[in-house]
Amino acid sequence: LVELDRAHLIHPVASWRGHEAAGVRVLASGKGATVTDATGRTLVDGFAGLWCVNAGYGQETIVEAAARQMRQLPYATGYFSLGSEPAIRLAARLAELAPGDLDHVYFTLGGSDAVDSTVRFVRFYQQARGKPEKDQFISVAQGYHGSSTVGAGLTALPAFHAGFGVPLDWQHKIPSHDVYRNPVGQDASAIIAASRDQFLAKIGEVGGADRVAAFYVEPIQGSGGVLVPPAGWMASMRQLCADLDILFVADEVITGFGRTGPMFACADEGIVPDLMTVAKGLTSGYVPMGAVLMSDRVYQVIADGAGRAAVGHGYTYSAHPVSAAVAMAVLDLYEGGLLDNGRLMGERLLTGLRGLADHPLVGDVRGRGMLAAIELVTDKIARTPLPAAAAPAQRIFERAWDNGLVIRAFPTGVLGYAPPLCCTADDIDAIIERTRKTLDQTLEDP
Ligand code: PMP
Repeated sequence: LVELDRAHLIHPVASWRGHEAAGVRVLASGKGATVTDATGRTLVDGFAGLWCVNAGYGQETIVEAAARQMRQLPYATGYFSLGSEPAIRLAARLAELAPGDLDHVYFTLGGSDAVDSTVRFVRFYQQARGKPEKDQFISVAQGYHGSSTVGAGLTALPAFHAGFGVPLDWQHKIPSHDVYRNPVGQDASAIIAASRDQFLAKIGEVGGADRVAAFYVEPIQGSGGVLVPPAGWMASMRQLCADLDILFVADEVITGFGRTGPMFACADEGIVPDLMTVAKGLTSGYVPMGAVLMSDRVYQVIADGAGRAAVGHGYTYSAHPVSAAVAMAVLDLYEGGLLDNGRLMGERLLTGLRGLADHPLVGDVRGRGMLAAIELVTDKIARTPLPAAAAPAQRIFERAWDNGLVIRAFPTGVLGYAPPLCCTADDIDAIIERTRKTLDQTLEDP
């Protein structure tokens, strides 16, 4: 398998030949919060695949739901006014679970195309109300919104721009709210004030609020290194957008479905966005699916305006019945106790990680619920990042792997945690203990 992989399989690209040097690690099976590789070693999956297997592995009710739907009706398009029962019921259920008037749901295959869809919908909205000149989009540095052209342009990670002609000329960024490394310091009100000023300055640069269509935010920045905004940041930026007639889009692709505690992280700040994107935990990784949730206000404007014009936007696999049936079974598990367990285990995870704060390599511990990170430094006072050459992320990843733990080691020296919500106390304790061992080994032999 390793040789076939090297010869033929192009992986999601982090560094073009990175995986080839290390050799692929083939995962063979999973159960609960653990995965077993092709050599028979079982590891705790501290990252739930790619922050997506929230319900955990081997959930029979999900498998049954998929099999039942495949037998009965494997496919139905949403075009030509057709539909299927699981998709319709799932849309209604998401509308019920989502905050406020996010009552209308558009299904995609994953997160990137959910983000792409919001960009179209935002433009349809601004055009439908006679404001086509509101066509500039703002997102946040360190943010991740997908790997498609439009999504990669909203993403603010340089690797996703390299050689790709993005960001597009209507895509702009403001600096991150990063608490640990913010030039204005760690005080919440100073960071919030700085972000508001930076947002207003950016709006000025692009020609004023009459030009700005939407602002994109992750409730917690995931791929940028699990950056948790200070309390009140989201609510303040949401209000500012409302005051300036700019749509507020919450990208909950990672934070949705219990990852931070509640069903959606917007609830942590009591805010209702105009549009919300979800994916990952929606189907818990069993099959692909994403969705856009749209407020009733935005929907009515589009439906009354652009809705009458010939606008094309859709995917062959939009509202896929098998994915929808899987999502319904996944939601049953979340509502049947997994969210509660995730909240309990999230506290245990954060307490455990905070217990590592005294380790000489640990500069910062942060997170909310089952979404957390530790940031490694060589000097805790100066907050000096680990030199990439001395402790390459791949080496830390491999060490953790050898210790029986899957984590994400970001090239910046951040270790990311997003375990399945079904973790037991023993799983969480193993994550902490194996992290400590990995850190000790890294200290001894960087
Ligand atoms: N938005 C966010 C916040 C994400 O974390 C991701 C994926 N990591 C995406 C969008 C893109 O989702 P996908 O990989 O399913 O296209």
